[in-house]
Amino acid sequence: MDQLNTDLVFLRNKLRKVSINEKLGYLKQEKGFSTRSIHAGQDPKQWKSGAIIPPIFTSVIYEQTVPRNMSDFFYSRINNPTRSVLQECLASIEGSKYALTFASGIAAITAVITTLSSGDGIICSKHFYSGTLDSMLIAEKMGFDVQYIDFTDLKQVEAAMKPNTRLVWTESCMNPTLSVIDIKSVATIVHKKSKNTIVLVDNTFLTPYYLRPLELGADIALYSLTKYFGGHSDVIGGSISCNDDKIYEMLKKSQFQTGTMAQPFESYLIIRSVKTLSIRLEKHAENSYAVAKWLEAHPKIGKVNHPALKSHPGHEIAIKQSYGHSGIFSFYLKEDNFEKTKKFFASLKMIPICTSLGGVETTVAFPREMSHHMYNDEEVYKMGVTYNLIRISIGIEDVEDIINDLEQALDLI
Ligand SMILES: *Cc1c(COP(=O)(O)O)cnc(C)c1O
Repeated sequence: MDQLNTDLVFLRNKLRKVSINEKLGYLKQEKGFSTRSIHAGQDPKQWKSGAIIPPIFTSVIYEQTVPRNMSDFFYSRINNPTRSVLQECLASIEGSKYALTFASGIAAITAVITTLSSGDGIICSKHFYSGTLDSMLIAEKMGFDVQYIDFTDLKQVEAAMKPNTRLVWTESCMNPTLSVIDIKSVATIVHKKSKNTIVLVDNTFLTPYYLRPLELGADIALYSLTKYFGGHSDVIGGSISCNDDKIYEMLKKSQFQTGTMAQPFESYLIIRSVKTLSIRLEKHAENSYAVAKWLEAHPKIGKVNHPALKSHPGHEIAIKQSYGHSGIFSFYLKEDNFEKTKKFFASLKMIPICTSLGGVETTVAFPREMSHHMYNDEEVYKMGVTYNLIRISIGIEDVEDIINDLEQALDLI
């Protein structure tokens, strides 16, 4: 028996593949994430049929035994059984007490903003995802006091805090140069000044598999589920996770008052996709690191902005606070020459040019003409968005095929 146990331990250790992220010095991933992503909230006993896969409940209304004797479920905008399964699963993988899901990442952002009152202060950054910046413009129009700072300079966080600051909004990893934000320091600085100011982290680029903002002192983790959670570029959704009862109550109320909740079919698609989140992200990470290393050594490439590379200014913070990096990064062609960049994009055969990220397919984007088209040259150059900056979302194809496509396009410029 003892021999058998020893053999099993030996076998398990032998089979255990050390992930690329562990090799690169990131935090060691705890056990249980994959299991929870498959089972949490999905005990078959909760349905009469014993279905292993959560049913899609399309019913908007639910029977009340006597008038106003309402269970959790009475109207689908408030609660829906399929949405509840997804929310329970997302809370479980985040390690949070609560999760709420929305029609889109932007719907989640709207729900958060509408918990504030006009005159309340929001601290955020010009480097955010462009849709978030659009939401901030609406917030300004509604009378919020919105300040824009650079979160890589922690002194600016402290200096921006005002008595009316209710919300400090950051991203764990930021467009377009993949700057890494020191979440623990931001949360510490904010909470030292004001316990009631909410620290929110848009963690879409990393997901809870690679970073868990609440572990680092943030109050809310926010996601566009459209990206890695959905993972197949076929569903739009958003979510927030939190531990605090009051914050949850406030957001839950906002979810049904604004009608921004996720629909049952979309919830089901995301439940299905979350089951493979960890395995997809491992492959995204392996492929993206391999492509980043390959690009870094290529004579026609300038700087590569990938947090797992030692050359990235955020590398030390990244390996200290996260469990790995996903498939998203950016790089500069050696020459800042618009014509050559256009030729490069036009020469790609397999990799399509499009917005968004986090799908199983590799995609490329041109920040200067796409996410940052509204700025003038002087403004974008300050942000590092030049005519040779390319953003890439590495998929889970065979990495040789991704490299081959990039190589043949680089050969032509
Ligand atoms: C895509 C994205 C959003 C918005 O999400 P949608 O699902 O498109 O509404 C918000 N933040 C980040 C970082 C994103 O990449």
